[in-house]
Amino acid sequence: MSYQLIDGKAISGQIKEECRMKAEEYREKGIEITLAVVQVGNDPASGVYVRNKKRACEACGIRSLSYELPEDTGEEQLLELIGKLNADPAVNGILVQLPLPGQIDENKVIRAIDVKKDVDGFHPMSAGALCTGQKGFVSCTPAGIIELLKRSGIAIAGKECVVIGRSNIVGKPVALLLLAENGTVTVCHSRTKDLKEVTKRADILVVAIGKPRFITADYVKEGAAVIDVGIHRNENGKLCGDVDFDSVAPKCSAITPVPGGVGPMTIAMLMSNCIASVDL
Ligand code: NAP
Repeated sequence: MSYQLIDGKAISGQIKEECRMKAEEYREKGIEITLAVVQVGNDPASGVYVRNKKRACEACGIRSLSYELPEDTGEEQLLELIGKLNADPAVNGILVQLPLPGQIDENKVIRAIDVKKDVDGFHPMSAGALCTGQKGFVSCTPAGIIELLKRSGIAIAGKECVVIGRSNIVGKPVALLLLAENGTVTVCHSRTKDLKEVTKRADILVVAIGKPRFITADYVKEGAAVIDVGIHRNENGKLCGDVDFDSVAPKCSAITPVPGGVGPMTIAMLMSNCIASVDL
């Protein structure tokens, strides 16, 4: 079967361009969209993510303010900064790069962010809004997955959708979004009895399992659309996903590559959330 390669790089480029145009429209009206990016400590991976986010802001005409705090920052100190950013009318979005050092309670910090500035969509009120179909920020990777499907012309309504993984940042929100798009959704996890039997029913299979190349062709129905959320380095140092692309792709109608699939969508949706923050 010939398959459609879902091009996350191109789609994320389109979304960022749309954000750039909207940011420009706001600037003409005197609104400068501003994202505050807070990093605690100097974890190298976090450093890369933060740099990429700031770079995307620049490309989209969104102002980014940087707060780089030392590794030994106390919880109170961080909460105080968040309080200031919450109160600052010039700040539209607040992003605290995770993970935080062990002395800081991440959940407490996430809860401290004003829900109207919660562009990562991690606040329990944002999650609750998603759950109950109300207006709110949707976390970026799950929102990006839905955009990939829509912009690739893959209909969700009425489809059998299977999500592998139930994390708060990917599995659960993507399942809720697929449900909101009228998919028939099943969520699998490590206690699912016969995973293959469930995944083989899927018209749309979203894989967020966190295990390199775990999903092989025998998990996939002929003609399915497969979205691979995983990111790993293989034995040769090359990036790979949770899906064994080479064996799975020939069975699919559409599939995301790794890299260049879901990965680039996360930052694009962050930009989109920053734009949306003006009206939320
Ligand atoms: P996670 O928190 O580790 O969750 C993994 C999920 O997979 C859990 O719900 C777990 O079930 C389930 N699972 C593990 N082994 C399983 C098995 N044998 N059969 C069925 N289910 C199984 O991972 P995550 O944060 O959601 O991330 C998933 C992947 O996406 C990772 O590779 C991560 O690096 C990647 N990721 C990419 C992006 C991006 O592209 N921007 C963003 C976020 C994450 P239990 O709940 O029962 O333990």
